[in-house]
Amino acid sequence: MSHPDFKTIGSPEIRLIEECAELIKSISKAQRFGYFASHPDFIENNNMDDILSEKDDVSECIKSMKKHLEQIKREAHNAPIKRRGGEDHE
Ligand SMILES: [Mg+2]
Repeated sequence: MSHPDFKTIGSPEIRLIEECAELIKSISKAQRFGYFASHPDFIENNNMDDILSEKDDVSECIKSMKKHLEQIKREAHNAPIKRRGGEDHE
């Protein structure tokens, strides 16, 4: 996450997808321009820095996604079973 204010905006799925895309982009830039090259407008960070930062973002989102999936499983386990055309069953 580039900014903590955005940490909870969007679903865990969307946040993970976005961070994976950012990691892929940073790796692509490193492959094209080199690990120690920098964007001319952001010379304080090179491509290696960006990869490591995005990797941390992905790791954080994977943790959130794991919790989210566990919650979905718990809810599914506790939900009544729906049968076609019938009533709920416990
Ligand atoms: Mg990121």
